[in-house]
Amino acid sequence: MPLDAKIPGGPLAEKWDRHLFELKLVNPANKRKYEIIVVGTGLAGGSASATLAELGYSVKTFCIQDSPRRAHSIAAQGGINAAKNYPNDGDSIWRLFYDTVKGGDFRAREANVYRLAQVSNHIIDHCVAQGIPFARDYGGLLANRSFGGAQVSRTFYARGQTGQQLLLGAYSALSRQVAAGKVQLFARREMLELVVIKGQARGIVVRNLINGDMERHEAHAVVLCTGGYGNVFFLSTNAMASNVTSAYRAHRKGAFFANPCFTQIHPTCIPVHGTYQSKLTLMSESLRNDGRVWVPKNPIDKKPPQQIPEALRDYFLEEKYPSFGNLVPRDVASRNAKEQCDLGKGVGDTGLAVYLDFADAIERDTKAVIEKKYGNLFQMYEKITGENPYETPMMIYPAVHYTMGGLWVDYNLMSTIDGLFVLGEANFSDHGANRLGASALMQGLADGYFILPYTIGGYLAGTDLSAVTTDDAEFKAAESEAHSRIEALLSIKGRRTVDDIHKELGLIMWEYCGMARNNKGLEMARNLIEQLRAEFWENVTVPGSGQDFNQSLERAGRVADFLDFADLMIIDALSRQESCGGHFNEAFQTEAHEARRDDENFCHVAAWEFTGAIDKPQLHKEPLVFENVELTQRSYK
Ligand SMILES: Cc1cc2nc3c(=O)[nH]c(=O)nc-3n(C[C@H](O)[C@H](O)[C@H](O)COP(=O)(O)OP(=O)(O)OC[C@H]3O[C@@H](n4cnc5c(N)ncnc54)[C@H](O)[C@@H]3O)c2cc1C
Repeated sequence: MPLDAKIPGGPLAEKWDRHLFELKLVNPANKRKYEIIVVGTGLAGGSASATLAELGYSVKTFCIQDSPRRAHSIAAQGGINAAKNYPNDGDSIWRLFYDTVKGGDFRAREANVYRLAQVSNHIIDHCVAQGIPFARDYGGLLANRSFGGAQVSRTFYARGQTGQQLLLGAYSALSRQVAAGKVQLFARREMLELVVIKGQARGIVVRNLINGDMERHEAHAVVLCTGGYGNVFFLSTNAMASNVTSAYRAHRKGAFFANPCFTQIHPTCIPVHGTYQSKLTLMSESLRNDGRVWVPKNPIDKKPPQQIPEALRDYFLEEKYPSFGNLVPRDVASRNAKEQCDLGKGVGDTGLAVYLDFADAIERDTKAVIEKKYGNLFQMYEKITGENPYETPMMIYPAVHYTMGGLWVDYNLMSTIDGLFVLGEANFSDHGANRLGASALMQGLADGYFILPYTIGGYLAGTDLSAVTTDDAEFKAAESEAHSRIEALLSIKGRRTVDDIHKELGLIMWEYCGMARNNKGLEMARNLIEQLRAEFWENVTVPGSGQDFNQSLERAGRVADFLDFADLMIIDALSRQESCGGHFNEAFQTEAHEARRDDENFCHVAAWEFTGAIDKPQLHKEPLVFENVELTQRSYK
């Protein structure tokens, strides 16, 4: 199947406007006749549901949590990018576009990224109108700070709670539509199957997580906004419920999965501190505006940080990357932290940590100023580690944080299944091989508030959609598939818990498909995962029943999908014989240990089709054509 990204013609800066004009419209009076299912209520799903309903469509919205407000987006800390250029420091739509393409190591689509940069400014206006309490500077203008991979300050923030504030905005807009009867909200529902009829996405099967009932829901189009799959690594900064199930189930029904091996490892997280840990905590990248990253120059120096004099400290990011310093992009900062720890210079009990030190910033700006900027993050750090970061440098280490891979979508955000749209972290669209900080919130809200509401109209207005009902054979088959899986999980009655197997999967993925990869390790991981999958289906224990609130059962279903999906990640990593962004194959590195791309052979999106066998997906390539930026070796020196 040829992959048509449907990128409009014409100059880059005019593509989106031109496309908006050319898209077919749905007459306002006809919109209410269309039903749209939106799965997910994070920033992508919440904004999409609210906007579609405001336009007049009839929307059904689903989420796992008891309230839309508990979507993982609420955890986002540092901020959201936009090219407003309020600080007058040289930013522009073009610069945001360029930084994002370069930050993604030239593995994203130019047209999508440019549109994202254009739309970014509308997001800020929209959110201000909603009342989001963005930080302001002394003169009353919205304040900005810097994030990695940029030499301007373009990140809008609400202390360390930007995601929460933005989600409250989207949730308010959504609630208005729920009250108006335009959105039917189904909380505590987990999508287990997509229903495809005559090649079109026409509904979903969900499980009611409170009483175990299966429900069928039909619609004219389905929008997945179900977030990222970082929890395949077990330990990550993602919310515990983040999963790959809806995306993977759609993949099995014909949606291609793009670049699944592109994972982001965030450099500044609280290090792992025990074998019983189930969650990792992010320390926002915004902290690197003021915090300085260092390790002792001497590997055997195990003195407390305050006793190590300046001359014996290695500020390795500032040394190696004088232009960007501590604010190099995440993939670069993470690899360098790992390198220091591999050299034996890591700190803390495990040696798997580096310092993030605020002493200079406190001396320069005062404690009060630092507290105002990052107070809640410092408090969180102290609560978890018992150490006061105003007095002792934080200890940080890279951890899994975000997934750039996702379901393949065209310029309209439609997947390879007609009528199945994918938004936010669940799609692959805009970040290439490495996402810049504060760009996920921008993308999720761009997709939900400003892109899908137009493009879905073009699809609905231009497509023949026959009448369907939930009694159709495809609905029955999808429900029976979901039901059989649940029965199978409950019948194993083995001896290992779901978490135990998930943890083992995570260790395999981290070791062989994590920050650094090599072909031998990846091959080994495939074997280990195959064995673990067999072990899961023979020896997992899922207590309780399917007719009840049963979180072990929920988790078991998600881990079963992670076990299948992990193979796809590894196949993808093996097939991409180059290094780029977060995909670092040790065989492909420059002399300075940076990722070395192979543009001749791998300047494409790798989109995988499910063929019926987990281990034999078919690769389709979408060539990436760069007409506006020059492909160069990324440098932040
Ligand atoms: C700790 C942390 C801090 C971050 N800070 C920032 C930041 O400062 N700036 C930035 O730009 N990005 C940040 N990110 C990234 C950003 O938060 C996420 O990429 C973004 O919020 C994802 O939004 P989303 O709407 O795509 O998905 P999510 O917010 O993950 O929402 C997913 C939704 O899908 C639902 N769902 C999932 N599966 C199913 C299913 N099978 N059935 C039904 N419903 C389902 C869930 O219930 C939820 O409602 C951060 C990430 C983390 C982990």
